[in-house]
Amino acid sequence: LEPYQKELFGQPVGLYILFLTEMWERFSYYGMRAILVLYMAASALGEDPRGVGLGWTSKEALALYGWYTMLVYIMSIPGGMIADKLIGQKKSVLYGAIILCMGHAVLVLKDTWAFYTGLGLVILGVGLLKPNISTMVGGLYQEGDIRRDKGFSIFYIGINLGSFLATMVVGAVVAKWGWHAGFGLAGVVMLIGLVNYVAGQKYLVKVGNHVVSDNETDEVSYGKLYSKLFKSPKQLVISVILLALSLYGWYTMDWGYGLLFLFLTTITALLMMIYKDLETQVYKDRFVVLLLSFIMVIIFWGAFEQAGGLMNLYTDTKTDRNFFGLFVIPTSMFQSLNAGFIILFAAGVANFWASRKLKSKEASSLFKMATGIIIMGFGFLFMVFAAMEFEKSGTSSMIWLVLAYFFHTMGELCISPVALSFITKLAPVKYASLMMGVYFAATGLGNKVAGIIGESASDFGEYSIFSGILIFTIIVGTLFILLLKPLKRLTHGAEDNEHEMA
Ligand code: GLN
Repeated sequence: LEPYQKELFGQPVGLYILFLTEMWERFSYYGMRAILVLYMAASALGEDPRGVGLGWTSKEALALYGWYTMLVYIMSIPGGMIADKLIGQKKSVLYGAIILCMGHAVLVLKDTWAFYTGLGLVILGVGLLKPNISTMVGGLYQEGDIRRDKGFSIFYIGINLGSFLATMVVGAVVAKWGWHAGFGLAGVVMLIGLVNYVAGQKYLVKVGNHVVSDNETDEVSYGKLYSKLFKSPKQLVISVILLALSLYGWYTMDWGYGLLFLFLTTITALLMMIYKDLETQVYKDRFVVLLLSFIMVIIFWGAFEQAGGLMNLYTDTKTDRNFFGLFVIPTSMFQSLNAGFIILFAAGVANFWASRKLKSKEASSLFKMATGIIIMGFGFLFMVFAAMEFEKSGTSSMIWLVLAYFFHTMGELCISPVALSFITKLAPVKYASLMMGVYFAATGLGNKVAGIIGESASDFGEYSIFSGILIFTIIVGTLFILLLKPLKRLTHGAEDNEHEMA
């Protein structure tokens, strides 16, 4: 068999181009994210050595942070739709990268309008880039190619290399030159990512192109799908009920939630119509199991994403960061533990699952994902210890954070790269980018849930929050493992005959 793509170290060369592009993009995203909450919560009166902040309460800062990190990923749905329907994944990534450069450039300015505009552009840019670059990785492999899972693990290392470098460097830059230098650095790095992507195009000739088909039924038409809604009484009733709930949300909560519910209703209706439209039962079942696995995704990130919010503030204010009396470790540096652990352990975890598979033990994606939730949840035990120590002595040791982040990371390695690969195996090809978008939107909802939980810490105290998460996640993970058999049946053997390919 002729190799499908040009190779390097047993993987398509295109993988390394996407690896580098995503590495720089994640550098800019996580660099900015590491300082965002701190910047909003820093004094507006110039009392903070890192410069004038926005002077918000931590509750206000976490609320905006929750909306922001949710929107960034929710925009992956329109981002995916644009790719499937209009321009393909490759161009979507290009435009996303350009918009991201602009967003970070605007954030360098010190005005309030610039703050919101910059965040808005970053949201749009990530929405276009993030889901589509991930689908492109899947496009490097033919169906059944066993290298796919490994490829996603390698890609995931790129993501975290970017995040690791960012969290190491940005904290130091901010300490020396202030907040806006940190935002500026994110912009410069994104520009490197863009140049890198453009320069590597010759290795991406076969992936991410928009396929125009002669056959009309192969074309993606969202308009047609929505119009069919009015001919399907059951689906219409469900949609109307959801719509009523959104309007109720609008009334009783605030307009932000109202809009969110409205958006989710629109997407739910679309997903129902896609389900109806799929040709065979195999496609339909796979579609359903994919959506069910996204429930795990929401719960996972809802707990995990305390990292940038509540745990970040906890590190800042309630942890003894003094390193043997030599120096004080900057808060943002703790954000690099997660990425550092991924770089160290990603290959090990991938190999562990691959060897289990060879011994024909349970190593399906769904099993790995449920295990990931349990392992991550267990990490919160150490945050419970930290909160206990703080209540007793007014400070807590950093060792708790290190242990918590270690287990969070091991859990992440079982769920996140696995889910990316799983989607590219199960999603119907013509909706591949949309499904990737829905996946990232699920992670975005997780981010929002994380924010809501984090905000409530000021009412309930960290101890209750951390122990609550611990118990809940372990129960959910166990439930999914108990349901494994029927769920796996719905995949119709999508992962049963993976083999080596030339
Ligand atoms: N840390 C991963 C990334 O940045 C996962 C993020 C997510 O899925 N929400 O890609």
